[in-house]
Amino acid sequence: MTKSNCVIIAGAGPVGSITALALSRQGIPVLQFETDKETPTAHRAATTHSSTLDLLDSVGMTPVIIEQGLKAQYFQYRYRETNEVFAEFDFGRLVGETNHPYAVQLEQHKTVAIAQDMLKAFPDFALRREHKIVAIDNGADQVRVVTETPDGARQDWSGRYVIGCDGGRSFVRKSQEIDFPGFTWEERFIIVATLFDFEKADNYRYRNYIADSEQWCSVFKIPGPDGKGMWRNLFPVMGSEPEEVVTSDDWIRARYDYCFPYARDTAIVHRNLYTVHQRVAAAFRKGRAMLAGDAAHINNPLGGMGMNSGIGDGLNLAEKVGKVWRGEADESIFDRYDRQRRPLAQKYVQAQSIQNKETLQAKDKAAANARFEELRRTAEDPKRHKAFLMNSSLITMAREAAAIA
Ligand SMILES: Cc1cc2nc3c(=O)[nH]c(=O)nc-3n(C[C@H](O)[C@H](O)[C@H](O)COP(=O)(O)OP(=O)(O)OC[C@H]3O[C@@H](n4cnc5c(N)ncnc54)[C@H](O)[C@@H]3O)c2cc1C
Repeated sequence: MTKSNCVIIAGAGPVGSITALALSRQGIPVLQFETDKETPTAHRAATTHSSTLDLLDSVGMTPVIIEQGLKAQYFQYRYRETNEVFAEFDFGRLVGETNHPYAVQLEQHKTVAIAQDMLKAFPDFALRREHKIVAIDNGADQVRVVTETPDGARQDWSGRYVIGCDGGRSFVRKSQEIDFPGFTWEERFIIVATLFDFEKADNYRYRNYIADSEQWCSVFKIPGPDGKGMWRNLFPVMGSEPEEVVTSDDWIRARYDYCFPYARDTAIVHRNLYTVHQRVAAAFRKGRAMLAGDAAHINNPLGGMGMNSGIGDGLNLAEKVGKVWRGEADESIFDRYDRQRRPLAQKYVQAQSIQNKETLQAKDKAAANARFEELRRTAEDPKRHKAFLMNSSLITMAREAAAIA
């Protein structure tokens, strides 16, 4: 590969790795840089939605994701106080709208590994780990990037475009002085992983949301390290207690006492504390630099939309880069990428993830009851049930984006 005749990708998370795969499959040379030595296994995305499974068929990943993951056809909403299931949704109602009428539960680091494994087949692809991008020159004819390795050594590289898939703190975005307006939630979120079997104990589905004005939470199943199943609980962390307090066994067990007393003594396998934001970049393209995934938009994890919408960005952009590479389109097509993805990230991903959180946590009793009643009626009405799923699985967003010229 001549160094300048390639696409440079910043970041080897799910969005960077899948974008690299989509470009490589079109015969485009890709140079990918990643700060970390290895893909982190901290608990982050676990749900791959039907619209994403449809998209990932185009790069051959879907059968492997299904094989390694857990099919989640249903998801539930419960009241913490009474444990009553007040709404249940069935992706089976999306038959005819998608080839995959279910979500698949699979940890995001495994999705990254699947993409990286497939990338080994492409001689014009190279991943350079422990290469942090520290400077970008976004020129008229090419981009130049500088990487730094842990020993402090710096190296120059050039390519036709740079795609920033470098996460919420994106260097690519900052280097191009692209604003990232939005807000940070006051509370932090903690994810706890346990081997306690919520399905056996209380008929939980693989994806469940528990509403409560004091301590809402969620219950999810993932395959876990040995593929035999592991459960994850997400709790909000109110107040400003230090990390060592809110990640302690005592603090976590108090959450279990309140939400699932029968699981109180279960072994805690993992715990991660996150600060959560809602932000969308002011532009997804500047000259030869493009943004995708968390570099372009971040949201709370309720609804499982961050990685899914990021993969949608990456595959949309890879298709456009392919067209330009083959001379089928000029570079103005990258403005269409911005038009298709940016307003819809706001309209669907931001709006739905904020609404999901507000539904679960509603403080005012009357307002909370109105929201729960609305969700119950949505689940009971076949037409509204399907429309709700079309939105939450991002199928409506994908179709609306495709219709934007
Ligand atoms: C608790 C939690 C649960 C979630 N659950 C879901 C879910 O169920 N479904 C869903 O769709 N989303 C979910 N998300 C969101 C999801 O994790 C993110 O949207 C996803 O990781 C975004 O992928 P990405 O590749 O854009 O960024 P990242 O995964 O953040 O990857 C960015 C990569 O870039 C690298 N990098 C950064 N700077 C540089 C640099 N200067 N040079 C080189 N490399 C660099 C980083 O090391 C990193 O590897 C969840 C998030 C959290 C926190």
